[in-house]
Amino acid sequence: MHIHDLIGIGFGPSNIALAVAFEEKGGKNTPQDVLFIERQRGFAWHPDMMLDDTHMQISFLKDLVTPRNPKSHYTFLNYLHAKNRLQDFINLQTFFPSRHEFNDYLGWVASHFEDRCVYGEGVVEVHPEVRGGDVKLLRVCSEDENGNRHERLTRSLVVSVGGAPNIPPCFAGLSSDRRVFHSSHFLTELAGQNDPRRIAVVGAGQSAAEVFLDLHNRAGTEVDLITRTWAFKPSDDSPFVNEIFNPEYTDHVFNNSTGQREALLQEYKSTNYSAPDLDLIQKIYDIFYQQKVTGEQRHLFRRRHEVTQAQSTEDGIRLDIRNLDDGATDTATYDAVVLATGYRRDMHRTLLDPLMTYLGGFSVDRYYRLQTPENFEPAIFLQGCCEPTHGLSDTLLSILASRTDEIRDALERQEAAEAGAPVTMAANRRVATL
Ligand SMILES: Cc1cc2nc3c(=O)[nH]c(=O)nc-3n(C[C@H](O)[C@H](O)[C@H](O)COP(=O)(O)OP(=O)(O)OC[C@H]3O[C@@H](n4cnc5c(N)ncnc54)[C@H](O)[C@@H]3O)c2cc1C
Repeated sequence: MHIHDLIGIGFGPSNIALAVAFEEKGGKNTPQDVLFIERQRGFAWHPDMMLDDTHMQISFLKDLVTPRNPKSHYTFLNYLHAKNRLQDFINLQTFFPSRHEFNDYLGWVASHFEDRCVYGEGVVEVHPEVRGGDVKLLRVCSEDENGNRHERLTRSLVVSVGGAPNIPPCFAGLSSDRRVFHSSHFLTELAGQNDPRRIAVVGAGQSAAEVFLDLHNRAGTEVDLITRTWAFKPSDDSPFVNEIFNPEYTDHVFNNSTGQREALLQEYKSTNYSAPDLDLIQKIYDIFYQQKVTGEQRHLFRRRHEVTQAQSTEDGIRLDIRNLDDGATDTATYDAVVLATGYRRDMHRTLLDPLMTYLGGFSVDRYYRLQTPENFEPAIFLQGCCEPTHGLSDTLLSILASRTDEIRDALERQEAAEAGAPVTMAANRRVATL
């Protein structure tokens, strides 16, 4: 069977940026035979949250490559130039393009690497390929949408599969009821509903705010916004705080003790979690204010409330909702419930489960490489699931340009070492457990 130098699981922004890094900075030790495997039929960036009037939450200058190589062919600016929109974009006077446009930019970059990507196959597991007592290779098993299984061998692996919907336990039993769905499936699932009128949106973050506004703009909907918090608090994107997304801050986080890392994550959580953009908060506030002016209560803000139970009934989804201040409970029935409840970052553990005996406690080094025993030769890198060890930027776009360069560099060092060439070892030999 053919052996690839490297397989990348997923072809979202993280692995697209890696493809760019290989192309631009590849030397003789760069993996040559690289294949990315992507579950979706073609490139799409969070397609079910591609809502009208949504914008990027970081500057376009933090695209896939500019912070590393502003002269690159793959910058957002060059994309605009190629699309003949640079002058018009300048006239917008913004750093924050629409999500539609950024998706188009990412798709434009991805289109340069079509020959290195198989679309429409989801990787289901990765097995060790043992030869003479040593793990020499990895066997990457995937399934296409017709249920056909595919197997490929690789010498190295980069897992960049993004997040999986976080479903609160009280909704876990309703997975087969299409009237309850996560924001990551919002547009598709909403289109499949039978004219829902009463809708609950659970959550207090950017997605909850966007979904609420989207539903508000659809005629005939009545939306209850259910949040544990009292207030929507805006994401903090002030300049000093924003420095935590600078690449060098990753060193600072990684080199701290576990306890200090946790403290840092807590301290700056409000940059990314349960923190919508201020302009969305103002729009939502205005909607509720106008209800007071007209006296027509279309939507309800159930703040400091928590869903304790959810039941599927003929009339709809019945929620038991507890007031967190006085403990009083209430019941309400909805035609649909949108769970804007965030993402889990543990899919790599499921995919790598057959390797578990070699991976121990899932520790990574500064260069995102999983620690494995000596008799395990393949290198495995993780992108997007190292927030506990590498900080809050890990799930975002901010550090893609530098992170992928670090992974490229680490892979090249590994190749050089295998070829017996003298190599400068990575300066940072610490490891940290995820
Ligand atoms: C609605 C939304 C808006 C966002 N906006 C911003 C923003 O403005 N700025 C910012 O910095 N961050 C933003 N983020 C955070 C987001 O995580 C990053 O923008 C970015 O998508 C991370 O890229 P990624 O490639 O690591 O993960 P993803 O974009 O999630 O890509 C992972 C890819 O892997 C594929 N995949 C998953 N499992 C498998 C499998 N088993 N086999 C094969 N393929 C698989 C998926 O289909 C997907 O294409 C946003 C997130 C969401 C949900």
